[in-house]
Amino acid sequence: MRILVTNDDGIRAPGLVALRQALAALGEVTLVAPERERSAISHALSLHHPIVVHRHAGRREDTVYAVDGTPVDCVKLALAELCPERPDLVVSGINPGLNTGINILYSGTVAAAAEGMLAGIPAVAVSLEAAPAQDFRAAAGWAVRLIRRARARRILRPGRLLNVNLPSRPRPLGVRWTVMEHGATVESYDRRADPRGRTYFWIQGPPNGVRPSAVNGRVPTDTASVLAGYISVTPLQFDLTDRRALKMFASRKF
Ligand code: MN
Repeated sequence: MRILVTNDDGIRAPGLVALRQALAALGEVTLVAPERERSAISHALSLHHPIVVHRHAGRREDTVYAVDGTPVDCVKLALAELCPERPDLVVSGINPGLNTGINILYSGTVAAAAEGMLAGIPAVAVSLEAAPAQDFRAAAGWAVRLIRRARARRILRPGRLLNVNLPSRPRPLGVRWTVMEHGATVESYDRRADPRGRTYFWIQGPPNGVRPSAVNGRVPTDTASVLAGYISVTPLQFDLTDRRALKMFASRKF
C-alpha cells in the first residue's frame, strides 16, 4: 500500500514523526508536510507566491518533502508532482489537540485529509486530546490499528474521510462512531497594551466549564465521546448544502 502522510504542525512535529514511523508497517510512505506550523489555516491555498519544496533524506522505507506552503498545498503538490504513484491512502496528523465539533472547520489537519478525499482517495485525519505529556507513539499505534481494521472491513473507500480523535488516556475505552458536535465556540480575547500604549488582542481558548452536548440527533458527539475516554470516528463530507432549507424552499418561487 502507498500512503501519503501530512500534517499542519510542520515537518518536525512529534505527532508526524510518530505517525510516519507507525505507518511504515502498513506500506510505502511518502511524507509531504509544511516546513513550519500552519495550524488553524483550514483549506487555504497558496496563490500569490511560489511554493518551494525541499527533499529531505528519508529512510529506506520513505521519502520526505518539506513544503513552504499550507497543508492543502502539500496534498495537491504531492498528488500532482511528488508522489511516484497515486497513493492508496492519505493520513494527516497526529495533531496535538482535538479536531472535534466546530474545530473541524478551522483545522488544517482535517483539511489536508479532506483534500485527499476530494481527489477520490480514502483519507484519515488523526488528532490527540491535549494533555501535559502527550504520548504520540501510543497514539500512532492506535491510529494504525484503527486503519488496519477499517481497511479489512472495507470502511476506507475512495472518497471517504474518517476524522479520528484519540483520548489522552493510555488505554481508550473503545471506538465509537460519532457525529460532529454543533456547539458554537465562544472564544475570549486577552486585551493587552503594547509598549507604545496601543491595544492589541490575543485569542484565548474557550472559557473553562463549557460542556459539549453529548448527542446530536441521538448519535454520540465526537467531543463528548473523546472526553469520556473513547476513540471517536466521524465520517465527514464537504457538501455544505443545507438540505433541510433546500427542501423547504425548493417548491417555492424565489
Ligand atoms: Mn495543528
